[in-house]
Amino acid sequence: MSDFVIDAPMPPALSVMGTDRRFPVRRVYCIGRNYAAHTIEMGGDPDRDPPFFFQKNPDNLDESGEFPYPVKSSDVHHELEMLVALKSGGRSIPVAGALDHVYGYAVCLDMTRRDLQGEAKELRRPWEIGKAFERSAPTGPLYPASDIGHPARGAVSLTVNGAARQTGDLDQMIWKVPEMISYLSDYFELAAGDVILSGTPSGVAAVSRGDTMEASIEGVGSLTVRVV
Ligand code: MN
Repeated sequence: MSDFVIDAPMPPALSVMGTDRRFPVRRVYCIGRNYAAHTIEMGGDPDRDPPFFFQKNPDNLDESGEFPYPVKSSDVHHELEMLVALKSGGRSIPVAGALDHVYGYAVCLDMTRRDLQGEAKELRRPWEIGKAFERSAPTGPLYPASDIGHPARGAVSLTVNGAARQTGDLDQMIWKVPEMISYLSDYFELAAGDVILSGTPSGVAAVSRGDTMEASIEGVGSLTVRVV
């Protein structure tokens, strides 16, 4: 007999390369405007607009390799991102040593209902309706940092049906991974199981049902997702 008055949902979790054990996810933080060229394409100024954070839901992460085109939108964009998974946390974590809290890395897509996000921006409303919908974060397997290290440079790219859409390099991030961890920990208490999506390079664009997205991050792996 459990203590819960209804059946408890399964805790969201990610598969981990090299083991059949899984990484349980507690929170999902996402950074916005972390590549200058993407800030410009979204109408911002990379010299004036500091990056900022929003959240998705842990159960938005999806490893199925299929992205169901969501309801209530006709302009759904891909955003290729690196997912950073934390094995420990804390408050006010210094930049030096922040990487000691990282368990591993994965390729992830921050799928976005751009039309609904745009409306929300205009009306000064929160972004969840554009960002935190069902299966909005297709994710590849986690690669432990003990196997791949802490990638700070390397090509990132996303193609749709074989045509190039997004290209960049991890070293173009305005805020590096240790800085993101440190910044977030000044505002929130970070903990084991938290993941951070580290922002997208330029080239975000719409997808349609039937499209195949192929994402890769040098040193972290690749991810193929079909829009259904
Ligand atoms: Mn994003």
